[in-house]
This record gives sequence, structure tokens and C-alpha cells, in this order.
Amino acid sequence: MKTLKSYVCGEWYTADKAFRDLHDPVSGETIARASSSGVDIEAVLEHARDKGGPALRAMTFLERGALLKGMSKALHAARDELIELSIQNTGTTVRDAAFDLDGATGTLGYYAYLSKSLGDRRTLSEDDGMALAKEDAFWGRHIKVPLRGVAVHINAFNFPAWGFAEKAACALLAGVPVISKPATSSALVTERCVEIIVEAGILPEGAFQFLCGSTGRLLSLLGSQDVLAFTGSADTALKLRCGENLLASNARVNLEADSLNAAVLAPDVAAESDTFSLFIKDVAREMTQKSGQKCTAVRRIFVPDAQADAVQEALGARLSKTVTGNPRDESVRMGPLATAGQLRDAISGVKLLGDVADIVFGSGERVNGVGADAKKGYFFGPTLLRARDPRDTQVIHEHEVFGPVATIIPYDGSASAAASAVARAQGTLVVSLYSEDNAWVEQYVQEGGAFTGRLYLGSSAMASQGMGSGIALPQSQHGGPGRAGGGCELGGLRGLDLYMQRVALQGAKQMVESL
Ligand code: NAP
Repeated sequence: MKTLKSYVCGEWYTADKAFRDLHDPVSGETIARASSSGVDIEAVLEHARDKGGPALRAMTFLERGALLKGMSKALHAARDELIELSIQNTGTTVRDAAFDLDGATGTLGYYAYLSKSLGDRRTLSEDDGMALAKEDAFWGRHIKVPLRGVAVHINAFNFPAWGFAEKAACALLAGVPVISKPATSSALVTERCVEIIVEAGILPEGAFQFLCGSTGRLLSLLGSQDVLAFTGSADTALKLRCGENLLASNARVNLEADSLNAAVLAPDVAAESDTFSLFIKDVAREMTQKSGQKCTAVRRIFVPDAQADAVQEALGARLSKTVTGNPRDESVRMGPLATAGQLRDAISGVKLLGDVADIVFGSGERVNGVGADAKKGYFFGPTLLRARDPRDTQVIHEHEVFGPVATIIPYDGSASAAASAVARAQGTLVVSLYSEDNAWVEQYVQEGGAFTGRLYLGSSAMASQGMGSGIALPQSQHGGPGRAGGGCELGGLRGLDLYMQRVALQGAKQMVESL
């Protein structure tokens, strides 16, 4: 059995106790173990602060961008090997593993490309400057400089490659060293990614460290120039946010938590139309891609009363084509859930939704996987529910089932009703609207925009190019208000804000401009 290592203080570290096991979700067999027991956390922080930080800050944006390009290329060159590991460790299909890996290399590549527009500079300028008095002599301007601390990144299990890479891309480009902690259950993939990057000799000493296992005392040692960027469940987010040291030091904390994302069909979209087909295709994909273990997956499907039967029928027909099983079997379109715990949670979650909704497709129970040993593996087929009474749906707006599960909720067709129903989840990462009616969409944006981080507007005019609401493209911000964590990642240069301090300069125009 493989023992996973941490990469700290410029070398690989192997623990000798307090291990947690990693499993193959298809067979349930133990495939690796991980622990960070014994890592000298103070030394890790010192290494980042004394070596990684100064080395990165001495580089220009262009030079840091070259580091990201190198990381992207090195990971891409090992794509096949990483896909194989992802199948073994997380049970994803080749396509779903590629979604994670190509997301990682694509995001690193995108930020490398962005660095070209920033050039040979170390400071970002936020505006063009302005006179602060009657004449130009007293001048003001906002600039951004990198924080002098470290970025601690804690990631969820579902994107073992993209998760660490999208966070690292922004921190490293901003000039801040990273200490990255993967979710233990899927760390086999992340550990290999880090090994590849270290072997390629791309990054300066101390710029990127990898803590495989628990964070130990790390969060209690962070200070005012440090950043914690967390992705995971709302429960863990709450626990970490309340850490006394983080509150006392005012270290920056960015939370990407769970989200009851919604897809909304507007009443202008007739059954049989192209936009209706797009809606069905998108919702089915967003339910089943990565076995529904995506923070951006659709959990709630809002449909005008008159369309509810047609949507139920069309979605059921589409989901029936999703073969669940061993990703190594060619007929399989959806793999198992990642861990035994996720399977348990999905089953109990559907039971909870069952209080107010009926299962109209699937079983909400474990199934035997095609191409896998009967009774083995964490298989769970697509499950579609329908709210019994749209006035009694609170649990659907509160409980995230992190699997291929979504619930149809009929509404009266007005943009106002849709916006207020979607808002009952108290903040989402993404809402997708399907409509050809600009006025309907505009009303939704006015009333519902404040409750989500991203609106995906599905229509016939973008259907040939739209990638679906589940992709967190680096150009657009990722993160949503309220329950979704209140965080913001990516979004082009906005992604660097978390790692930089904005400074208002006030002084003689020639001096301010020379900076
Ligand atoms: P999780 O159980 O909250 O774990 C997330 C991370 O936090 C893991 O690395 C975990 O480490 C770590 N962790 C747990 N307790 C900790 C503590 N006391 N101190 C420091 N670190 C701690 O979430 P998950 O099961 O991995 O991921 C699924 C959830 O993530 C879902 O709810 C999903 O919606 C959400 N998610 C959100 C986004 C987003 O961008 N908004 C993206 C992906 C997933 P161990 O694994 O070692 O326990």
C-alpha cells in the first residue's frame, strides 16, 4: 500500500503514525494511506515566509506567469497517468477525470497568459489616478502589492487537481507562497501532481509546500498578512471561520462552501423547442457529471407548473441513458461516489428530501455498478425527485445531497416567484436561467441577482458555444454569497485580490505616477 508524503521545507516527508486510509471507490479496497503527523508546522511557515515569499516578490508578474505555464505544461504532459490515478482514487470516468485535470492545466495556463498583460512589473495599478485638490499637484491613485505572508489552501475531495491549481495560480501570480492541503480521501491524485511539479524544478524554494493529512496547528499560527482559502462543506467552513486566532489576527479568509444551485425554466420556453432541449441536456449533465459531486451541480430545478410533467418525462428519459458503474467498463457514463461516507450521506439525504418530495426517477439507494463486483463499491444511480407541494419545500432549499440528485419544484412562471424561490437557499454559486425573453431575464436579474455569484443564461443563441453552468471558468468569478461561503475566487485579475493589499497613494503627481 502506498504511503502518501508531504512536500515541506524543500523535501518529501513521510509520517510514521496517525494514518488515514484512501479507498478505491469501485472495490472499496484500501489503496493508500496519508498522515502529516510529525511535520514541523512552524518550520513550514518559516520556509514559506523566509524563502518562498521573497523569491516570488523579487519576480515580476511576467516571470511568475512563466512559473504557472511551466506547471501547466508539466501536468499536461502527465495527463494520461493522472487520469488513471483519478479513476483509481475517485472512481471517475475518463471524461470526468479529464474535466478536473484539464481544468487545472487550463486555469494555470490562463493565468500565465494574463501575466503577459501585466508585464515586467511587481505592482498592480487599479485606476488611472485622479486630482485630489483643485490642481494636479496633489494626486491620488490606488495600487496593489502582494501580502507578505503565506496562503494556506484547504481543498475539497471532488477536484483533486483543479482545486489546488486554481488557488495556487492566483496566489503565485500575486507573489504569495502557498501551503496546500488536499482532502485526504482523494490526495493520491494531488500528491502525484505535486511530485510532477517538484520534479520539473519549476518553482523557487518555499513557493509551494504540500501538507498531506491534517493541518495540525497551522491555522492557529496564521497572522495578519496570511490568507486562508478554504473549499469544502458549510460545516467545516463555519468551524474554521470561528477559529480564535483567525478572528483575532484578521487574517484574510475566503470560503467556498456548499451551494444548492438552481436551474430555472422560463414560461416562454415551449416543450420540443431547442432551448427546452438545451435545458434538459444541461440539467442532466449537471446532475451526473462527476457523479453529482460538484459544488456547481444543479440541485433544484424550477419549472413552470404547466411544464412540470414534460420536464419530468424528458429528464427521466435522458437520465435513463446514464449507465452507472465501473469507469473502466466502456458502457459506463457515471462512476461511483468517492467514499463510503459520501454514499451514506447521499442515501440519508434523499430520505430527508423524501419528506416533501417523491422520487420520480432512480431509487435513492445504493445500486450495483455495471462492470463491478455485486455488493462492492459506492454506486448510487441518478435520482430525480419532484416536490409534492411547492409551498412546503424548505428542506430542499436547505439540504445539499452531494451526489447525482436533484428535485423538480414547480412555480407559477413569473420571474419574481422564481427569484424568491431560488433565494430560499440563502445564496448560491450559480443559477442557470433558460429563456429567450430578455424582459423576463432582466426582471430575474434585478430580483434574484443578489443571491448568487454567477448567472448562466441559456438560450438558443449561445447553445452551440455554451459549456454548461457547472464549469468554473477562470475568466468569471467563482463563489457566491451567504450559504455558498461569501467568497470570491478566479474572475481574471480579481482572483489576485485575496493575496494583495490595495494601497491608496496620495502625494505629488510626479511621485505617485512614478510608482
Ligand atoms: P469537508 O469535509 O468540509 O472537507 C474539506 C477540506 O477541509 C478537506 O481538505 C478536509 O480535510 C479539511 N478539513 C476538515 N476539517 C478540518 C479542520 N478542522 N481543520 C482543517 N481542515 C479541515 O468537505 P468535502 O467533503 O471534502 O467536500 C465536499 C463539500 O465541499 C460539499 O459540500 C461541496 O459543496 C463543497 N465544495 C464546494 C466548492 C466551492 O467551490 N464552493 C467546491 C467543491 C466542493 P480532510 O479531508 O483531511 O478531512
